[in-house]
Parts: sequence; C-alpha cells; structure tokens
Amino acid sequence: MNCRHCQTPLEHVFLDLGHAPLSNAYLSEAQLHAPETTFPLKIFVCHSCWLVQTEDYAAAHELFSSGYAYFSSTSQGWLKHAKAYCEKIAEMLRLTRDSFVIEVASNDGYLLKNFVEMGVPCVGIEPTASTAEAAERIGVPVLRYFFSAATASMLAANGRQADLICGNNVYAHVPDINDFTLGLGILLKPGGTVNLEFPHLKNMIAQNQFDTAYHEHFSYLSLTAVSQIFEKTGLRVFDLEELPTHGGSLRIYGCDKDDSRQTTAAVTAMLACEKRLGLQASGLYRTFQQKADKVKNDFLAFLIEQKRAGKLVAAYGAAAKGNTLMNYAGLKTDLISFVCDAAASKQNKFMPGSHIPIRHPAELAKRKPDWVVILPWNISAEVMQQHEQIKAWGGNFVVAVPELKVLT
Ligand SMILES: [Zn+2]
Repeated sequence: MNCRHCQTPLEHVFLDLGHAPLSNAYLSEAQLHAPETTFPLKIFVCHSCWLVQTEDYAAAHELFSSGYAYFSSTSQGWLKHAKAYCEKIAEMLRLTRDSFVIEVASNDGYLLKNFVEMGVPCVGIEPTASTAEAAERIGVPVLRYFFSAATASMLAANGRQADLICGNNVYAHVPDINDFTLGLGILLKPGGTVNLEFPHLKNMIAQNQFDTAYHEHFSYLSLTAVSQIFEKTGLRVFDLEELPTHGGSLRIYGCDKDDSRQTTAAVTAMLACEKRLGLQASGLYRTFQQKADKVKNDFLAFLIEQKRAGKLVAAYGAAAKGNTLMNYAGLKTDLISFVCDAAASKQNKFMPGSHIPIRHPAELAKRKPDWVVILPWNISAEVMQQHEQIKAWGGNFVVAVPELKVLT
C-alpha cells in the first residue's frame, strides 16, 4: 500500500492489533449466532510525510451504514465544548446574518444548533441518515452527502461557499484526506476560515492511547503531516490551539495560502515541538507497539486477579475505543460481565467481537459491580460524576489507558 497523502510505499508498521470487527458494528441477539467479519487492524507510518494511517480494507460505505450509532449529543461535556467554540469563533470572525457556516460531519446538530440560535445561516453536511434526521428535528439544515472535492464543487457552483467551515473529529475519519482537504479549499469564500479539530498524534503516543485505533479512524494526525497536506491543496495552517478533548486534540485554523493573515508563533512552535519529540523520524514510531502491549497486559492481569477474587467487573461506555481495547485483549463476558451506555441506540445490543452485552446505566444499581472500567477514558470525570452512587456499595472506577489506574 502507498501513503494516502504522498504515495510513498508504506514500509514502517506503527501498530498491529491483529484482526478486529468494525468498531461500531454492534450486534443484535440474532447476529450472535452468525459468523462475524473481522478486518486486519494495522497502522503504518509514512517515512516521507509522517502521515500515520490504517491499512485500507473496509469500504467507507460499509463503515458508515445507517446503523452507525454514534450521536454526539449523548455527551454533555461535548455539547458544552461545542457551544463554547461557537460563541468564541462567532465573535472572532464577527459572524452575522450575512455570514455562512458549513459544518462537515454535522452529526445530530450538536454544534450547528448554536449558530441557528445566534441567527447565523448554516448548513451541515452529513451522510448518516439517523443523525441527519435528529439534526433536522432541532432545526439544523442538513445536506446528506459524503464530503469530497466533488461535493464542494457542486455547492460552490450553487453559490454556497462559506465564511467558516468547521469539522470536529471528522478529519481523521476521512479515507481520502487529499480530496477532502481540496474540498475545504473549494468551499471556502475568499478570506474564509477552516477549523478542524482532531486528536493529536503527539498525545496518542505520549499517553499510550492505542485504543483510539480502529478501522474508521484512517489517519492519526500530527501538525507536521497536516501542514503538508494543507500546503499541497493550496491552504495554510495559520494558527492552532491545543485542547484537552479526546485525550489531547489540536484545533487548527486554516485559510487560503495567500490569505493576509500571518502564520502565528503557535504553529511554528508546535512544528518544532513535534520535531524535538521525534515525530519527524522513524525511531519513535517503532516503540509504540510495546507501549500498547504493556497497557493490554496490565489490564488483563487486573481482570484475571478480580475474577479469581470473585469480584464483579462491568464497563461503562460502549465506545469505539472500548471495542479496540477489549478485542485486542481478547475479552469475553467471563472477565467483563456487561457494559453500560447512555445511548438508547446501543442498549440491548452486544459489543462487536467480545459479545459483551450493552445495558442501560440503571443496570449498575441493579447488579452493583465491584469495579466499573470506564472505556472512554476521555470522559471519565463526567462518567464518575454521573454515577458516583457506585461508591454506596463499595464500587470503584478504573481506567486502562494511559495505564491501569483506580480513579478516586
Ligand atoms: Zn506520505
């Protein structure tokens, strides 16, 4: 396979997690009796442009079928994050009733609803029917497309270029990152701004976040790689912010390469930081598998110890990263009895691969587990706050990443 950005043949494996089912392929009871499809989950790093990327097996239409269950509004913390962003950027760019905002992968309207409330015209681009319908129900207009250069050209030809294009946690999920970025440029009004948020590879490596690897997550992004992709498509990263979301994300500000806005010191400093940390040489990338294996082994040892002690272990959050961790560790219901999740769309289904049942959070009070493993460690504070009642029966929260830790 060649690099999706620069076409260099990929030689260096960053992470090999064996075979895994698609992380959002939650199963019904009936499906438990049928064969399950798995795909190799192997990630390479390009030694030319340093884009870290999954080997390509599953077609995009398979990954984002209408059964895809993730609704952004499920997380209160994420809703707050989106609202704060909208208020900040509306003021910074002086967005008005004459402006136009486009969000790529607008999900259930969790973000754009803020612009609707402000009276700033906007539209979301979202191919997933279930989330698009949810957005429309709260008054957010949605165009049901996969975003691409072709989609962008069509919209631009209809006079729908944007003052602001935003994309939260979509850039890493795009199979053809060059075409997607080209589309951003096509859709941008002169003087317009692109904002993208994505988990920062720097933190994935530093914090052992190997469980953020899954098939739908095609790229693991450094500023080094993103800057090059932007430059190739006539754009420029002119500013950035580091965010605590998703274990440490970057929010980049992009514009046309000839835009009058100067590239800030934050951008040059981050590029220098990535170079210093080793993100522009192959050595660092070779150490990641060992870090992943240590996390997996420590987690398994903990679960076996609890099993032997006769303790009941449950998990919280039927998220993609949980599936990656549990499938790499080869877990089944003997070590984790059930997983709770607030999303009704996942309840009473089963985790792909591990076949661990997903239950309503009320199951915690019914079964009183001794341990609750928080799988989406990025929202562990929120989960602990919402379910502090487990302390009443002596239950404790634990996370496996970045290392096995009892949360107090
Ligand atoms: Zn490359």
